[in-house]
Amino acid sequence: MSNETKPYAIGIDMGGTNTDIGLVDRDGHCLARKNLPMGRYTEIGAYVADVAAAIHQLVADRNLTFSEIAGAGIGAPNGNFFTGCIEHASNLVFTGVVPLAKLLGEQLPVPVALTNDANAAALGEKVYGGARNMNDFIVITLGTGVGSGIFADGKLVYGHDGFGGEVGHTILHPGGRLCTCGRKGCLEEYASARGIIQNYREVCEENRREAYIEADCRWLTEAANKGDMMAIRAWEVTAWHLGIGIANAATTLAPEAIFLMGGIINAGRWLFDPLRAIFNEHLLCMQKGKITILPTQLNANDAAILGAAALVQL
Ligand SMILES: [Zn+2]
Repeated sequence: MSNETKPYAIGIDMGGTNTDIGLVDRDGHCLARKNLPMGRYTEIGAYVADVAAAIHQLVADRNLTFSEIAGAGIGAPNGNFFTGCIEHASNLVFTGVVPLAKLLGEQLPVPVALTNDANAAALGEKVYGGARNMNDFIVITLGTGVGSGIFADGKLVYGHDGFGGEVGHTILHPGGRLCTCGRKGCLEEYASARGIIQNYREVCEENRREAYIEADCRWLTEAANKGDMMAIRAWEVTAWHLGIGIANAATTLAPEAIFLMGGIINAGRWLFDPLRAIFNEHLLCMQKGKITILPTQLNANDAAILGAAALVQL
């Protein structure tokens, strides 16, 4: 069987708190999954051994053999597709440069590939989701950070070193809020979960209202649903920053669509309505009305696993 005809793939979503491993079929169904809490691990060897064991178990449980598995794809923070290494991920216990694809490959009889989580998200949308028939689109992942995966002319944009396509770290406000990347004013600081809460706090301050101390993005949506004007305004401010950030990316790339992914999209119309308006307002006139902003078409629970699996099923 060639890789293109193998019916299954393994998707590995590696995060700071959990690693989720799933067995995925070609139609994008996650058939079975396993979870490894990251708190168990202090060194990479034990982690890789457990990931490999979980994969062997998933394959055996379904009475499959590895000849039916196209490979294992890993979506990891700061994952580099070209080197197969995780490079200086700040939210993992494994520091420095970790050759994860090579280490896992030594314990599996199938190819292993690795990329960063946002690129994996774009691959998932392309292989299993709403971008199946698109060659030019952008996936923006909104969460702890703002990640992005870009397809241009039918190919995922990696750049010369594997770290291309980072819309979240384009600078919107020179000298603005300090970003985790060490620079100031990146889009991420205005549209990530912490950025959105900062927007809310600033909106409250400007209006001399007391901010709800435990506000998070879920609360902010609920508050907007109840008519809280500070919350509604905070989503508008978020949409303003995000809308301009992705309009800048769209001006460069002319995508057919922009997909948003991550729990923050549960804000629904509070985010999407002002976002679509601000985005269109800031596009070149020949692009206006031609680029759609959509929520991801992947199931939220499986999206990260599907994206990682897509790396070996494309
Ligand atoms: Zn940054």
